[in-house]
Amino acid sequence: MSTYAIGIDLGGTTVKAGLVSIDGKILQQISMPTEADKGPAIVAGQIVKAIKKISSPENDKRIIGVGVATPGIVNTDGNTVEAPPNFKGWVSFPLRDSIAEGLGNNIPLRIENDANAAALAEAKFGAGRGKKNFLFVIWGTGVGGGIIIDGAIYHGPHGGAGEFGHGSIDYEGPECNCGNIGCIESYIGQKYLSARAVRYLETRRDSKVWKLVQNDAAKIEPKVLYEAAMMGDKAATEIMTEAGELLGVAISSFMNIMNFDLAIVGGGISAAGDLVFKPMNQRVKKCVMAPLRPIAQVLPAHLGNQAGILGAAGLVMPE
Ligand SMILES: [Zn+2]
Repeated sequence: MSTYAIGIDLGGTTVKAGLVSIDGKILQQISMPTEADKGPAIVAGQIVKAIKKISSPENDKRIIGVGVATPGIVNTDGNTVEAPPNFKGWVSFPLRDSIAEGLGNNIPLRIENDANAAALAEAKFGAGRGKKNFLFVIWGTGVGGGIIIDGAIYHGPHGGAGEFGHGSIDYEGPECNCGNIGCIESYIGQKYLSARAVRYLETRRDSKVWKLVQNDAAKIEPKVLYEAAMMGDKAATEIMTEAGELLGVAISSFMNIMNFDLAIVGGGISAAGDLVFKPMNQRVKKCVMAPLRPIAQVLPAHLGNQAGILGAAGLVMPE
């Protein structure tokens, strides 16, 4: 008899729940509002509702467990979640216990940081299938990361490993929202990259980007830059190429430290494809140590926005 796992992807606006087969197929998916502004206890209640809704009586007996992917840092106790961004009044909350109490049964339940869960999803079902060790980077609003070692998520001694976006590439670089200077996120995170683009384009008024945004600088964002680059715009191509190169620099530092030959990059901005992956890979080849040069590569993630649900479900699946 086939068995399933439930994967929960907790986001700032919606809780997504998926019924996932052992081979990584989402067979059924539902979503409900997170109600993040009502505090963590209400959010936990919404997750419980989502789990109950998707475990219909006929599925119930065949569900091996529930995994939850959440923003914020999951403590080493596997229970407490700290300060997820965009969740009001949430300092430190025992999410696992709270969900378990709401479910009122003994079904195996695990929670994990969302970037780590996405990394695990790529390892089990995506671009990292068959690879034991790699860095996963999620490139969108922020720059997040997850580290897979010997096929499993590496958490570090305090549970917060994988903060790839806050590694600095320049000690005199821009200030980052984390308090550090020159973090890779402070160059290529969505709003930072957009701001860099606006500055660059101010002296390039003939760029197609200006036409696409009807001269409204506030509308300049990576998606528009991609569109302009695809139309052959030189300035937009230069901005996105540089962003790819910068990410390549950060990735190669990590590869050198860890002796890794693979990074997998997902997230909204990575959808720019070759435009960013080509310069990224060129830079990686240049910056990694000689023994890694012939084998080091950066691949696009495969699972897109299904990675949260799949990774969460993967938490409770057998190896
Ligand atoms: Zn930072």
